[in-house]
Amino acid sequence: MDMLINGEKVSKNEKIQVINPYNNEIVDEVSIANKNDINNAIESANRAKKSLDEMSALKVSNKLYDAYESLRKNKKELAKLITLEVGKPIKESLGEMDRSVETLKLAAEEAKRIYGESIPLDAGINGKGFFAFTKKMPLGVVAAITPFNYPVNLAIHKIAPAIASKNTTILKPASQAPLAALKMAEIIANEFPNGVINSLTGSGSEVGNVLVDSSKVDKISFTGSVAIGHLISARAKMKKITLELGGNDPLIVLDGANIEEAVKGAVTGSFLNAGQVCMGVKRIIVHENVQDEFTNLFIEKSEKLKLGNPLDKSTDIGPLIDENAAICVEESLNNAINDGAELLSGGKRKDTFFEPTIIGNINENMDLIINETFGPVAPIITVRSTDEAIKIANNTNYALQAGVYTENYRDALKCANEIEAGSVFINKQSTFRTDNMPFGGFKDSGVGKEGIKYAVEDMCRTKLIGLNLR
Ligand code: NAP
Repeated sequence: MDMLINGEKVSKNEKIQVINPYNNEIVDEVSIANKNDINNAIESANRAKKSLDEMSALKVSNKLYDAYESLRKNKKELAKLITLEVGKPIKESLGEMDRSVETLKLAAEEAKRIYGESIPLDAGINGKGFFAFTKKMPLGVVAAITPFNYPVNLAIHKIAPAIASKNTTILKPASQAPLAALKMAEIIANEFPNGVINSLTGSGSEVGNVLVDSSKVDKISFTGSVAIGHLISARAKMKKITLELGGNDPLIVLDGANIEEAVKGAVTGSFLNAGQVCMGVKRIIVHENVQDEFTNLFIEKSEKLKLGNPLDKSTDIGPLIDENAAICVEESLNNAINDGAELLSGGKRKDTFFEPTIIGNINENMDLIINETFGPVAPIITVRSTDEAIKIANNTNYALQAGVYTENYRDALKCANEIEAGSVFINKQSTFRTDNMPFGGFKDSGVGKEGIKYAVEDMCRTKLIGLNLR
């Protein structure tokens, strides 16, 4: 699939193959952009700023609605592409596309409500006699760098609010799964003047470094690993950045919780997309009084999940993104077992597949507990009190989301207050997001918020205009 620069499809001789992790077949290939291509995309995005600036908010909104209709018509085709390149079960890919289409609609709505406010300058010394107001201005060019695991929805969370706030964009999708994102960008770009949306493929560091270093790119909106987030942050200097990074989300089950609901949350949270979810449940913290009941039911439900061909509608768990990723999970699990963890269910790898795995007898120094494990492994930690559960939940460098199961409103509010995370859900697992909510973590999980309205805020600058009426 080609890159898109200034409305033209661009292809290079040097390619990256996109491999289906289920059967190792080549799905397609994408070009490796060189410096010239990257600079052309930057120039094209800068030239196109004028065309967006000349559009009324109503026109931008209507065009986004048109793009929404086109994307809606193509959602099944794109869902299949996601499954082929990521290995994600088709029912989850269809879910991702439903959300992506709705996210675009949210942006079409938001394009009409980007407000400034009137400012009473006479509340300050020497401000009497002024009429003043603020205006939200686009930043200019927003570069969107995105990961493999939710290739369309995470990209649309950058492109759609960028356009709604009249910024032009350059998308750089993950090399392992660029196809559906490129196709989505092409569909939206068709509704706008040339250069409003550009896309580049190729080496993450090469494309990324040029975009981050360029004085003609006004913002980097990045979703991906903590390691690359730190690199971008160090390099970006004064440039605006949003970083949506990794997670190590806790699911807490307190004494008296609805265990069936908690188990449902644990199964979804730990094993959705084979555990390759930033807000996936990575640590399960259970009160000793309900530990046996929870663990037994969790094992029973997990063992019913069906591994298989991700194109098959009945498949629950597909492969990981590649064999290296699966080997990484295997090593992390083996290290934990060597350090005393007890294997309760699953634990086996076959090529790119990894069984849903549950382990107990966990201590907090295990690598698997300290770092984000991007695979279907659920460690169960036993606690004796709500305070201990909160202490363990917060004992991590990450703070993306958290889920707490309890029927006790005091415990619910205590956890909601004291757990360090961008979102805390009561009686829902952390692996939950609606596309209008403010989404984004604290600590190493990132900087800034997404969710259309909040992304728009982060993609605008505020100008004050003051009229001296004296
Ligand atoms: P990744 O390795 O960090 O890659 C993400 C993107 O960054 C890719 O497009 C990659 O390009 C690019 N990149 C690589 N090196 C770069 C550099 N030096 N400068 C700029 N960009 C560079 O992440 P991933 O493995 O695709 O995704 C998994 C990670 O993403 C996990 O840690 C997960 O938690 C996180 N994630 C976070 C969220 C969130 O919203 N908080 C959502 C989903 C995933 P190449 O592919 O070409 O290398």
